Amino acid sequence: LNEMVQYHIGEELHESDYAHLFGLKVIASMKKIADELSEEYGIRLPLEQTPAESTAYRLAMLDMKHYPLQASTVVKGDKKRGEIYYTNSTYMNISAPISPIERVKKDGRFHPLIEAGALTHIWLGESRPNAKSIANFVRKTFFNTQNAQIAFSPEFTHCMSCGKVSRGLHERCPYCKSSDVDGITRVTGFFSKVSSWNKGKLGELRDRRRDDLNNFRD
Ligand SMILES: [Zn+2]
Repeated sequence: LNEMVQYHIGEELHESDYAHLFGLKVIASMKKIADELSEEYGIRLPLEQTPAESTAYRLAMLDMKHYPLQASTVVKGDKKRGEIYYTNSTYMNISAPISPIERVKKDGRFHPLIEAGALTHIWLGESRPNAKSIANFVRKTFFNTQNAQIAFSPEFTHCMSCGKVSRGLHERCPYCKSSDVDGITRVTGFFSKVSSWNKGKLGELRDRRRDDLNNFRD
């Protein structure tokens, strides 16, 4: 959605209220069509937010192949490395400089239109927020936004040499300095090893904005 909006009106979802509203209108139209088809065929066709572990990469690759002039103006990631991707689902640009609560609020405006799988990630990196900050954040999400689901997503490094797991993604193990390490973080909804990811997801990981929730207050 983000790149479609960007292509048509020249701004990404997070860049203006107009862009955000345009995105909401598109999803509202899709919901209306899904409801009409459900009625027509007598089966339930819910509008769902998919995790799209590989789709965001695949569609970006296909568009770059068939529509290189158009796609290259909006596609995200590192084109030289071939690590390109589209922003998944109704999410905003993963590197957008907006606060986590603002992201939860804006993402959440889409959630009443989506009947399955709606989720906002709070990428924590190596930070380890205290219980009070997390509680404040959850309370604020619950009472002040329409967001259906949030996930606090930290990152880890697993060392193949000494076997220890450390917080955050590192090039070298902080314990034994070995470079034989693998990252562990959520690819979409579940945790997995970074070495198994496709190029599109690797590009997205490089762009991922991390937030430290410590000292988050109401
Ligand atoms: Zn180690």
